[in-house]
Amino acid sequence: MFKHLLPKATSRPLLRPASNTFRASPSTFYLVDRSQYRRGYATEAEEKDLVIIGGGVAGYVAAIKAGQAGLKVACIEKRGTLGGTCLNVGCIPSKSLLNNSHLYHQILHDTKNRGIDVEGVKLNLEQMMKAKDTSVAGLTKGVEFLFKKNNVEYIKGTGAFADEHTIAVNLIDGGETSVRGKNIIIATGSEATPFPGLNIDEKKVVTSTGAIAMTKVPKKMVVIGGGIIGLEMGSVWSRLGAEVTVVEFLGQIGGPGMDAEISKAIQKTLQKQGMKFKLNTKVMSGDDSGESVKIAVEAAKGGKEETLDADVVLVAIGRRPYTAGLGLENIGLETDNRGRLVIDQEYRTKLPHIRVIGDCTFGPMLAHKAEEEAVAAIEYITKNYGHVNYGAIPSVMYTHPEVAWVGQNEAELKEAGIKYKVGSFPFTANSRAKTNLDTEGMVKFLCDAETDRILGIHIMGPNAGEMIAEGTLALEYGASAEDVARTCHAHPTLAEAFKEAAMATYDKAVHY
Ligand SMILES: Cc1cc2nc3c(=O)[nH]c(=O)nc-3n(C[C@H](O)[C@H](O)[C@H](O)COP(=O)(O)OP(=O)(O)OC[C@H]3O[C@@H](n4cnc5c(N)ncnc54)[C@H](O)[C@@H]3O)c2cc1C
Repeated sequence: MFKHLLPKATSRPLLRPASNTFRASPSTFYLVDRSQYRRGYATEAEEKDLVIIGGGVAGYVAAIKAGQAGLKVACIEKRGTLGGTCLNVGCIPSKSLLNNSHLYHQILHDTKNRGIDVEGVKLNLEQMMKAKDTSVAGLTKGVEFLFKKNNVEYIKGTGAFADEHTIAVNLIDGGETSVRGKNIIIATGSEATPFPGLNIDEKKVVTSTGAIAMTKVPKKMVVIGGGIIGLEMGSVWSRLGAEVTVVEFLGQIGGPGMDAEISKAIQKTLQKQGMKFKLNTKVMSGDDSGESVKIAVEAAKGGKEETLDADVVLVAIGRRPYTAGLGLENIGLETDNRGRLVIDQEYRTKLPHIRVIGDCTFGPMLAHKAEEEAVAAIEYITKNYGHVNYGAIPSVMYTHPEVAWVGQNEAELKEAGIKYKVGSFPFTANSRAKTNLDTEGMVKFLCDAETDRILGIHIMGPNAGEMIAEGTLALEYGASAEDVARTCHAHPTLAEAFKEAAMATYDKAVHY
């Protein structure tokens, strides 16, 4: 069906001059075994249906889907392991530490009232880090297995455009190779945005990469940036005993997507857990020349100045697209003023056989968004259609309790002039949350005032990250609050709070 994409025979004879074919006369060519003339070249510029640069979530998912579709595909990754930021230094290791630090904190502070007497609780940080590394290794190896299963060629090295169809690769194990692609996907991801004037050494001044690998609990930690990564990593080290202060330029934590009411509520809870916050505050400068790091801060609108002292400073002011060394200049591709590769709605650059997905282009920098784009990009290549609903991409913050949302928040609806109604339900009135002694938070629905169609769902509560899947499905299918309210939910579950919030939006909740 897709003739242009069908794999070509690999052992076809050389019929035209190539640099390492022996040439007897201008018109005579001999077929030779090229392998004996390679010096550090793993393959010659063999043509694939698809070459992917970057083996993160975007790249590896695209590679697997391409393999499943019967494409001849290669994926180039320079890290030495697959899975990118997410599996190696992002989602997975941070969630391992969040889970285990929560357990430690709960055992220390929340067992007596549950009838469990625990004595002699001690932190073994080395083992906690090992547990994290075991999860990471298992998952990255798992992706490698999936590559084999789906006939994806895994090229370990750094790729750069030699021309519009050829990627030159500096191999990790030495030497070079090159690979040609009829189609190419750039999925090179993102990196932490540095803070001007602070030298990141991943020991005293760390990004999230250093923050998931510390060998001792700092006494004092300053987190610059109260977004999701800052709050998650701040939570981990606060639970393990650090005195954590979060400095945030905006007037709320959690980033602009988090609903303001939920943001206030989770801030209160995190404060109860021991974290300190300085909102509407900007960091002016940092001095890491001494044993500790000194951070000068000032009220965002100017005025009050203060110096904070920390053993470790976490720079968590956001991430930026990563395209360094890709050789974009060799093919005339440019990035916009925020470093993002520019694409159309089918992920095509101005060179239509080159597509871009994941963190290095537009949209939220989230692993599941990258994964959706990967599937869609392969569908565009093989079937000419694909689907990602950017209005229904959930966000989750894995603190305790978790915060999760999908769709628009109140501020966004107000700004857009949309008339909406609100319905909410607190976990204090939910039977499962009560039996679990875990009742902080609520579910909040925002629905169109006239049609009852769901516009946004915001949850703070235990397992909010799991519950938001139901909200995303409802949004994807254009459901109303009544649709959700009339759907039977098992008892006793936290999900009943979801149903009751929907009931509260279109009618009245039963249990509150
Ligand atoms: C601490 C932290 C926690 C996070 N938690 C979550 C979370 O809970 N949920 C969530 O959805 N998202 C989370 N994220 C974000 C998520 O990790 C990213 O959105 C996701 O990894 C993006 O995938 P990607 O494939 O676009 O890029 P990446 O995962 O960054 O992968 C890009 C890959 O390309 C490789 N590469 C780059 N240039 C080249 C080259 N020239 N040649 C070969 N290889 C190259 C890189 O080595 C990298 O492995 C978190 C991020 C961080 C930092």
